Amino acid sequence: VKKNKDAGDVPHIRTPIVCVLGHVDHGKTSLLDRIRGSSVVSGEAGAITQHIGATIVPIDSITSMSGSMKSLNISIPGLLFIDTPGHHAFTTLRARGGALADMAIVVVDITEGFQPQTIEAIQILRNCKTPFVVAATKLDRVPGWRSTEKSPFLKSFGNQNERVTLLIETKVYDIVATLAEHGFSSERFDRVSDFARNLAIVPVSAHTGEGISDLLMVLIGLAQRYMEEALTLTVDGPGAGTVLEVKEEKGLGATIDVILFDGTIRVGDEIAIATTDGVSTTKVRSLLQPRPMQEILIEDRFLRVKEVVAAAGVKVSAPGLDQVIAGSPVRVIGDEPEDVKASIAREMTEINVTLSPE
Ligand code: GDP
Repeated sequence: VKKNKDAGDVPHIRTPIVCVLGHVDHGKTSLLDRIRGSSVVSGEAGAITQHIGATIVPIDSITSMSGSMKSLNISIPGLLFIDTPGHHAFTTLRARGGALADMAIVVVDITEGFQPQTIEAIQILRNCKTPFVVAATKLDRVPGWRSTEKSPFLKSFGNQNERVTLLIETKVYDIVATLAEHGFSSERFDRVSDFARNLAIVPVSAHTGEGISDLLMVLIGLAQRYMEEALTLTVDGPGAGTVLEVKEEKGLGATIDVILFDGTIRVGDEIAIATTDGVSTTKVRSLLQPRPMQEILIEDRFLRVKEVVAAAGVKVSAPGLDQVIAGSPVRVIGDEPEDVKASIAREMTEINVTLSPE
């Protein structure tokens, strides 16, 4: 695995983790698919990489998409998107008592506006104090909209007639008004001057790719301004992650898909896990990541790696993983095995799972 090579000279700022929330059918999956498909040709520098349960979009890819200058002095290495959208994924994936995701995108269909689950999403994010941006999607469905594939929003917006321009303004202001009712001050992203005070609304289309580069740049901006400190995690320390899923794999037995949010995990590491029988320990047998597309014909669909550095998605194979609880913490055991086990037990109590004593 490449050791945070995209981080350049600042290897200690890890990739922020992003989750997508919003009302059913408003376009969460399509937006994620578009972001995943918007890569520079895979294999090239800056290409998007598929992880287990997640996708990493490196900063090079984002800046080249948006055509912006490197002089922005960006130290965030990229963005890690959790592949599973929705409120359930966001709320069950915890890290050290908080949400696993560092940031979120709330998707709202621009033609429908806020719906019950959109409101629920912003309430959840407020409670978790998770910074977010609103993606007003399905822009191409606004009657009369003239699309320009993959164009930045303002460029496409400039090509519309007055009626369409006015309609978009009205739709965006409907969203601004609804957000205001819920105590959030917001603006269309290009009018936001202070991202600490105003939520940014980015009109996008997953079908045409319009506004996607703006959305990614706003997320980078958010991470850059408000999260650098929180993101300065020890990529070199013992790995800490959250279990996405427990999966039976042919030839491997029970494996766990993990989002590593801090530190490094290596083959041979002793790890502490939470199982239905309590906190236990095991030794990492192998670390697996998806094979790149061009190697897909090789029968084994996983690539074995020696180590993985946060943030990343990885499949862990080890003895005794069949009883691991989805959503529970995983920790590499360093110098203080009892502390690590106690902290897992504490986190499990916090997330309301009672473990029987060992
Ligand atoms: P989810 O339930 O929030 O994940 O929504 P989906 O991504 O499955 O989208 C629901 C429907 O809306 C699908 O039929 C999509 O093709 C459609 N859709 C999503 N995004 C867009 C968009 O940007 N433009 C258009 N025209 N349709 C979209």
